[in-house]
Amino acid sequence: MRILVTGGAGFLGSHLCAAILARGDEVVAIDNFATSDYSAIKRLSHNDRFHFVEADVCTAPPVTGRFDAIAHLACPASPDEYLRLPLETLAIGSHGSEFVLRLAELNRCRVLLASTSEIYGDPLVRPQREDYWGNVNPIGPRSVYDESKRYAEALFTAHRRALGTNTAIVRIFNTYGPGLRPNDGRVVSNFIAQALNGEPLTVYGDGQQTRSFCYVTDLVGGLLRMLHSIEPGPVNLGNPNEITVLELAETIRLLTGSDVPLDFRPAPQDDPTTRRPDISKAAALLGWTPEVPLAEGLERTIAWQRSLSAVPA
Ligand code: UDP
Repeated sequence: MRILVTGGAGFLGSHLCAAILARGDEVVAIDNFATSDYSAIKRLSHNDRFHFVEADVCTAPPVTGRFDAIAHLACPASPDEYLRLPLETLAIGSHGSEFVLRLAELNRCRVLLASTSEIYGDPLVRPQREDYWGNVNPIGPRSVYDESKRYAEALFTAHRRALGTNTAIVRIFNTYGPGLRPNDGRVVSNFIAQALNGEPLTVYGDGQQTRSFCYVTDLVGGLLRMLHSIEPGPVNLGNPNEITVLELAETIRLLTGSDVPLDFRPAPQDDPTTRRPDISKAAALLGWTPEVPLAEGLERTIAWQRSLSAVPA
């Protein structure tokens, strides 16, 4: 198969490209390095089934040849980064989605949208099932991400209804693992970087807010199952093991053997207080459930972040 991955140099994108190459297929990856860098794909670039196009998906870059499937992952995903790139974040959900849908229609192939648990905003139900419509502030700072993905979901659904396009929507919950850049701004990489550097862990708010963290290889397994199914979705992909930010801080202190203090900072506006996927749909339709326990995934992530600082500049 020949598969197009937008955001192919990103955290999830680069892992997805690696998995596709590992099973013997061909990948064309597009990325403009807005929130990623070449180091993520360096190990893939020697493979002659890996092709890279440095471009912004919103500019409809010229990609040639036939595709058997498209995965649209391009988008800033860390709150720090989408707040820094608000217009780009909205554009990738609208113009970027338009581009991949047209390409899928030209190729008569399946096209998968990497949507998000942020669709649910600050949810009023727990756990979140796909039939929950969400609680999103349309003009708050996070809306650039939430509404970009909500618009992309609407656009994918409209193309399926109007044109019969073979669309797939997955809603991805918090994901972590090797490859999540230490300066990305998300909680797992921040806490590990801070613990390894002997700095206080920055806890936003009172730390009682919850998240459910999924290890990256589990998540990529779910993406591939969805990509090769016939389900339209939306389907939640994530690990239902829900913990507070304080519990995460404690676990990372324990696993790094660091006794750094906590540094409480103001909570970001509209920071969701709870987040936990109901994954019964993914289990029933795709036969998918995550397998890597949090402590094991964090150990691997810590080892990877340690290896980065061991490399001479
Ligand atoms: N968070 C934190 N300290 C940090 C970074 C994030 O306490 O250094 C909190 C953040 O306020 C949120 C949770 O951790 O409640 C997860 O944040 P992240 O940016 O990883 O992803 P989000 O789920 O908000 O998209």
